[in-house]
Amino acid sequence: MPWKDGKKWVYSITYDEGCEDLLKYALPIHRKYGIPGHLALVSSQIGVPRNLPGSSYDKMMILSKDQIHDLVQEGWGVSCHSMTHCGVTLNNADTEVVQARRVIEEALEMEVRMFCVPGDNNGHPGALKYAELAGFTSILTIYDRVNTRDTDLLHLGRVPLHTEYPAPFFSVYDPYKRIHQAIDLEGWIIDYCHCPMPDKPIHPAKDCTTQELEQRFATIRRIGGDDVWIAEPNEVVEWLLEQRG
Ligand SMILES: [Zn+2]
Repeated sequence: MPWKDGKKWVYSITYDEGCEDLLKYALPIHRKYGIPGHLALVSSQIGVPRNLPGSSYDKMMILSKDQIHDLVQEGWGVSCHSMTHCGVTLNNADTEVVQARRVIEEALEMEVRMFCVPGDNNGHPGALKYAELAGFTSILTIYDRVNTRDTDLLHLGRVPLHTEYPAPFFSVYDPYKRIHQAIDLEGWIIDYCHCPMPDKPIHPAKDCTTQELEQRFATIRRIGGDDVWIAEPNEVVEWLLEQRG
């Protein structure tokens, strides 16, 4: 059996930015299905309105340290989503990756060992190069794929859980996305979205609705049954590091 407690595959979900509205809209669904979440947080913007002009989530309130600690108490996890979300380059990685870890750990007064590349995967090379210096043991990307027990922890893929893919695909929402692949590969799905809202997503190619989120969780529980290990990503990474010695 490949995973903890003999589980056959793994399911996780992450929310980039850590909007306060998660408490109102996503958290009740997490509690209903017994699924922990995960927040990718911009180090310099905790407990303040998001300051990223041009972002679909600009000016939305970000969870405070106390709210984040309450979520961690009930099993949620956190990662560092860079210092400013302006995009990681080889030139700014010392600030955006290395100093970002120090700043988030001081702001939250807890250890943060996972990095989450902001924007798109163009920031991945800089994050990779500086991860060890920063002390990060894993990196979340937005490569859309299923991870396995052998996946390099600095190249973790995530599955966009979005209402509709952007042009030219316009794929409609799929609550079964990659589940059967994960079962076949005995793999690990890490879903990714931002802040699900009732009826209409904030951005159709960056988010799903709360109804779609609930459909996803119900599908994971129904198909996964006793075979799926549901855990937030840090827990899975720590377990893998232990296994790999
Ligand atoms: Zn982001």
